[in-house]
Amino acid sequence: MGLKNPEWYRESLRDGRKLYIAGESIPDVTKSEWFTVAVKNAAEDYVYDDPATRDIRTYVTEEGELAHRVFKIPESEDDLHKRIAMGEITSITTGVSAVLMALYNIKDKVAKVNGQYAENIERVYKYCRDNDMRADQCITDAKGDRSRHPAQQDDPDLYMRIVDRQKDGIYVRGAKLHITAASLVHEQTVMPTKAMGPGEEDWSLSFSIPTNTPGIKIVNRAYAHPNLSEMDYPLSANHNAPEGFVIFEDVFVPWDRVFLAGEPQLAGTLAQSLGLWERIGGLIAMCNRSKLMVGAAQMLTKYNGINKAGHIQEKISDLVNYAEMLRMALESAIRNYKTTETGMVYPDPVATNVGKFYGASNFHAMIRHLHDMSGGLVVTMPTEADLANEEIAKPLQKYLHTSNDHKVDDRVRMYNLIRDFSADSYGGWELVTTLAAGGGLAAQRIMTMREYDLEGAEKVALAAAGITGNGHARV
Ligand SMILES: Cc1cc2nc3c(=O)[nH]c(=O)nc-3n(C[C@H](O)[C@H](O)[C@H](O)COP(=O)(O)OP(=O)(O)OC[C@H]3O[C@@H](n4cnc5c(N)ncnc54)[C@H](O)[C@@H]3O)c2cc1C
Repeated sequence: MGLKNPEWYRESLRDGRKLYIAGESIPDVTKSEWFTVAVKNAAEDYVYDDPATRDIRTYVTEEGELAHRVFKIPESEDDLHKRIAMGEITSITTGVSAVLMALYNIKDKVAKVNGQYAENIERVYKYCRDNDMRADQCITDAKGDRSRHPAQQDDPDLYMRIVDRQKDGIYVRGAKLHITAASLVHEQTVMPTKAMGPGEEDWSLSFSIPTNTPGIKIVNRAYAHPNLSEMDYPLSANHNAPEGFVIFEDVFVPWDRVFLAGEPQLAGTLAQSLGLWERIGGLIAMCNRSKLMVGAAQMLTKYNGINKAGHIQEKISDLVNYAEMLRMALESAIRNYKTTETGMVYPDPVATNVGKFYGASNFHAMIRHLHDMSGGLVVTMPTEADLANEEIAKPLQKYLHTSNDHKVDDRVRMYNLIRDFSADSYGGWELVTTLAAGGGLAAQRIMTMREYDLEGAEKVALAAAGITGNGHARV
């Protein structure tokens, strides 16, 4: 019980879990080169004795114990700000564990349908919180033919489902795709990918089980290859975490770990409980990246002597507008927070979804600006090793020179930052992830249309047009 430490975390990953990457199995994830950075970053979240981060990283539970802040149910605007501050110093492996906080918050709705499920949610939440464990958000199904319901698919396993029910538990089969940090967490926390209807009882499924449960295999894909040079890859050499393709081959789940098993009316509630938190996370990340883009454009154009050119000023001002719109959306989402019946505070859904949509749908245009201002060296800059090779170092330095006001090394580093962020394998990952993670653009449109005060807008238009009465007839 209680807060753990980095050594405990590393040891906890040596539990026989079945992991794969690049066609090979990983016997010990803490020794895999592919995971060196991700394990190190996740382990750092277990450093609780640093006075500079201890208060940001922890909170006192209602039982009076210290726990990681990722489990804190926000009860005020201040809690939301503290959550954002915690996110700034937290790895993605710990960040995704918010799944248990989101589940805990809807346990009262779940209790109205099945008291046992609600008790299970509370027990698993407290078990992970009090033992400082991590859990992933195992939601997105394979989904097969998108135009068909789960039961209509050629293969019924394309959405995870219950294949057998026994006295002591259920057997489940299926796969969950793109799961962030799946190989680095203690619990695979499974939720339905979408709302389900009558006839979809076997697909209305949620539970949490340890990652080393027999029958679970996780196939990883990483954008960052092992041992990247920090000079050539300033971002991805220090921050990366593979995503997992999590396969469940007739996995046994005991009843006390089941949150949903056959009640379609709850599937949508569970599926949506996390969406908002995923999107506010996406919005925070885009705010940080947009400021980085403004800074990189400023510095590189200064190094290249073009920062005063009209078309450059225009492009940088577009980047500034982008960054400011995102910052304002985030601020508005936090300031106009909402409160649930149970007292949980959450960011305004309209501002969150509008902000995430705006950021994701304009990101690629901002990258185009960045590339247009930077030129071809974004992709052809010689590497750190080339610049250190005595035979070629001198001419490389000579021809990479722009002005005595700037060092060649600084110019190289700024190009490397832009390439890593936007034009190499991490950059490609970022282009897709900005759109897809937290649901694609259509998902945000749906939420905005559901949450926006359309009726209020109709009233404004009716009044402006001089239409009175019930809104349909001119009086
Ligand atoms: C890096 C990364 C990390 C991620 N992390 C996680 C995670 O931790 N946990 C998790 O559960 N998921 C995660 N995801 C998955 C993410 O939520 C999904 O990628 C996203 O919801 C889109 O689903 P999809 O990839 O299956 O694409 P699709 O659903 O196939 O979407 C592609 C396009 O098809 C459209 N479409 C889909 N269905 C229909 C339909 N019926 N009718 C009309 N149009 C349709 C969509 O609107 C979209 O335009 C992650 C994704 C990425 C890229």
